[in-house]
Amino acid sequence: MKAHTLLLVACASLAACSSEGNQVGPQTDVAGHGGAGGAGGSTPAPQPTAGMRADALLAQLTLDEKLQLVRGWGLCGWAFGDQGAGRRGAGFIPGIPRLNIPDLNMTDGGAGVADCSSASAPFSPRDRPYATALPAPLAVAATWDTELADRVGAWIANEARAQGFNMLLGGSIGLIRDPRLGRAFEYMGEDPVLSGLMVSPKIRGAQSKHIVMSLKHFAANQQETQRMAANSVIEPRPLRELYLRHFEMAVKDAKPGSVMCSYNKLNGDWACENAWLLNTVLKGEWGFEGWVQSDWGATHSTVQAALSGLDEEEYSPNYFADPLAAAVADGSVPMSRLDDMVRRKLVTLIDTGVLDDPPMQQTIDFAAGETFAQQVAGRAMVLLRNRDDLLPLPKTTMRVAVIGAHADSAMLSGGGSSQVLSPGGPAYAFPTKDGQKCPEQPGAGNWCEIWIRSAPQVAIQGKVPTANVRFADGKDVAAAAALASDSEVAVLLAHQWAGEEHDLTSLTLRDDQDALIAAVATANPKTIVVLQTGNPTLMPWLSQVGAVIQAWYPGIGGAGALADILFGDVNPSGKLPVSFPAKETETPTGGAAFSTTDVPYTEGLQIGYRWYDAMGIAPLFPFGHGLSYTGYTYADLAVGRRSAELLGDEQRNARGHGGRPDICEPADWCRRRTQAPGRLEDRNVSARRDAAAQPDDPGRALHLLGYDIIELENAGGLLPDHGWSVCRRHPFEECIRNAVRLPRGDLTGFSRRGRANPDLCRCRNCLALHP
Ligand code: BGC
Repeated sequence: MKAHTLLLVACASLAACSSEGNQVGPQTDVAGHGGAGGAGGSTPAPQPTAGMRADALLAQLTLDEKLQLVRGWGLCGWAFGDQGAGRRGAGFIPGIPRLNIPDLNMTDGGAGVADCSSASAPFSPRDRPYATALPAPLAVAATWDTELADRVGAWIANEARAQGFNMLLGGSIGLIRDPRLGRAFEYMGEDPVLSGLMVSPKIRGAQSKHIVMSLKHFAANQQETQRMAANSVIEPRPLRELYLRHFEMAVKDAKPGSVMCSYNKLNGDWACENAWLLNTVLKGEWGFEGWVQSDWGATHSTVQAALSGLDEEEYSPNYFADPLAAAVADGSVPMSRLDDMVRRKLVTLIDTGVLDDPPMQQTIDFAAGETFAQQVAGRAMVLLRNRDDLLPLPKTTMRVAVIGAHADSAMLSGGGSSQVLSPGGPAYAFPTKDGQKCPEQPGAGNWCEIWIRSAPQVAIQGKVPTANVRFADGKDVAAAAALASDSEVAVLLAHQWAGEEHDLTSLTLRDDQDALIAAVATANPKTIVVLQTGNPTLMPWLSQVGAVIQAWYPGIGGAGALADILFGDVNPSGKLPVSFPAKETETPTGGAAFSTTDVPYTEGLQIGYRWYDAMGIAPLFPFGHGLSYTGYTYADLAVGRRSAELLGDEQRNARGHGGRPDICEPADWCRRRTQAPGRLEDRNVSARRDAAAQPDDPGRALHLLGYDIIELENAGGLLPDHGWSVCRRHPFEECIRNAVRLPRGDLTGFSRRGRANPDLCRCRNCLALHP
């Protein structure tokens, strides 16, 4: 069979991709909004711009109404005022009905419409619909698939609108500097380019459904330990090239309606009153036109915050209610600044279509949601190890042991404000803090450890209906080992819960699961370990087990996706968006205790794979690693300058970067031949890294510039040459200063000391950062 296609953009257009995710929610086009024009006339009146409409509204607002629009009024059903509590989401700001300015109903939504219910919430029984639990954002990043990210954003937005929300706090990025980061599962990996490329389509997909998406947490919020006190101390260059870069890409490319400033301090100033961060960089240099909202409780002042660029205080009105009124009255905050706060919001509501196309409560199609969740999870799972082609399992397998906590009935999710509750609520909910209440029904506190109703044993049985699929929870290690020994294969589901407000203390699997895995693998070397984690994991048992699948927190379709991969109905194509260290002490922070005051980023530019490269340390699994059921050979690697023959690809690539050729103008290329005599349809990520081993800049590590996804249908032959293009415009001052053309040639490994990953194109010194 010889059908091979290079698909840079798999759908006819990004819009077409987005519409696939549209199972719920109206599709009104706002083109004719605003009352201008109108039916009947032969010559349509000119459309007023969003700015003109916002100005007209602003002129009619009273001072009290302006003040009303710039501070939070509610949280999860609690109200801080007499305006009611909105839709029981994370935030609520009452609108101005006489001017048709809508209430802002906000929900968290990184992995689906989040749940706000808690044991202490003022509403019971549960009065909000459930939502589809999609895989965690880190899992979505592991697909490296920008079109899928677009559909994920659109899907969450549709379900949010179906519940009456018009704002999603769902564009989470933050770099995984320390692999123990508690919210790593909510972010998109350790690399700013991958994070920027993946979060941008998610935001665009969401906002295409007429909802505002907030990009968060801005900026340098790399730990949960003392997140409301810690001060990230970062040199200008790593700050620009790492910790701001993905935000810059998203702000420029996806135009999020809102940016949420973070809890931490950055170089001594609270992020939400950091004039350099908000005014100079975000609004000034990057031209951000939306509004800045504080993280919930991250505001620390009135005048300084307002003058530094904060446009909305969330969630309780400590600084932007009466104190802001007083500051405006005495002139310490000029009226023009208050107007700017309000105008930014109005322009955004008009631009995104929120003002003209209010959400309508609708029934959510949960069956479609589960199918989509399963598809995403199937793309996200990473096959880390597959000794002697143990996987995929033949469907003639007759005796399967399914081992691990709740592996008969549920899969784990990450905790905190992004927690989604799928229909029926959690299968299990456990306290994570002393004295915490975690009722199973209705709703569980979103800081509990929640297991989602997605049953691995059932899904596996579904693939082999006549087989004997038996379960052991693993509490009795000897019993689990005996079951494994009496089975052809053992599928062992291990887990590590992570959540908001705390970091992991260690990358070692909790509850002595290492001993369980070792015992089961000794009893049956055909043991497949499935990791339900939101962080890298140490694997002292790696050489003993037959296969390892990184499943992340996979959501409601997790069990189905796992069974698809185990039995070869889906060929694994996920690639790690984060390095997995071999030892805790070998990470950039060396596994040291998190600092609770100043956090100096002494490693500078060297985080993630840059760190392992710079230190000459082999990680357990490198960034970008991920096996499939297809074998490849590569040949004829070549690099060079832009050429006419690649123009078609370049154009497609530009669109893949967000349809903004002005932002991403391809310049250089790298190509190879790929031979893939595989068994199954396959998707492969080809990554390109820049080498900037410039003589005057020895500290600079290889880094990712971009990548393509190649789809191989019924692979089995030679893939035609394909090329990569490079974003020409590079926004960082150091790079502009250092703009040089690097020499051609010298193809080498993606990771100098990492394990070889044949799935990645090796280009070193092959691409100029700047033409
Ligand atoms: C989190 C944000 C979230 C907000 C509202 C905060 O604690 O840091 O990510 O959007 O709560 O739920």
